[in-house]
Amino acid sequence: MTLLRAENVEARHGLLPAVRGISFGIAEGEVLALIGANGAGKTTLLRTLAGAHPLTNGQITYDGSDLAGIPAHQRVRRGIAYVPEGRRLFPELTVEENLLVAGRRAQPGPWHLESVLAAFPALGPLRDRPAAKLSGGQQQATAIARALMTNPRLLMIDEVSLGLSPKAVEEVYACMTVLRDSGATVVLVEQDLGRALSTSDRVVCLLEGRIVLDADTEGLSREEVVTAYFGFHQARRS
Ligand code: ATP
Repeated sequence: MTLLRAENVEARHGLLPAVRGISFGIAEGEVLALIGANGAGKTTLLRTLAGAHPLTNGQITYDGSDLAGIPAHQRVRRGIAYVPEGRRLFPELTVEENLLVAGRRAQPGPWHLESVLAAFPALGPLRDRPAAKLSGGQQQATAIARALMTNPRLLMIDEVSLGLSPKAVEEVYACMTVLRDSGATVVLVEQDLGRALSTSDRVVCLLEGRIVLDADTEGLSREEVVTAYFGFHQARRS
């Protein structure tokens, strides 16, 4: 079942068209990697889907309903969670408090404080630590865990591994494996193409605000991805 569908979605920054006529769907249970060079429009697209950036044109349908005019906080209630680049935790609150604050807006579902801490075992020993005192990897794991506390049907994570040490990247991708195995529907933005390909079922590549590749990961060659990423020629499959 298609959980979210974008039809001809456009979004601007002032006069600049950052997302230009994008159409794609996300199936329930799918892990989709959104890739593209700096400035390709990935963050603007995710923010637009989350309701944090205005839609200039087009339509976003989620679970069969048009999201036009639905503000970001109501999208969270409907099960759309967004982990922004830079994580945006409450720095003075502990890990546990950050999770509990998100849980107040939760839909009913399997994720609550104890189940999230069980799924992310690295966070258990840190539950009383203020977010400001966490490493980058621990902050990213906390941000993903916090989003899970809302029991999302669709989890969108911007820049999963940006700025993290190799060890922290391993830790965060261990969390991604937990998510995959739980059947979550995930859109992740990832600069590391190897990680993006190995973690996802499908890849969507943006170039200058447009989709230049939309393909199942299985059978997709690195050359096809690199070609789309750098815009050597436009590629579109399946
Ligand atoms: P990055 O990987 O660098 O975060 P991105 O693919 O997420 O890039 P966006 O951040 O969505 O791309 O940017 C798309 C376009 O919109 C770029 O041309 C960028 O310069 C522009 N842009 C992004 N944010 C703003 C802003 N706040 N004001 C003006 N222009 C912006």
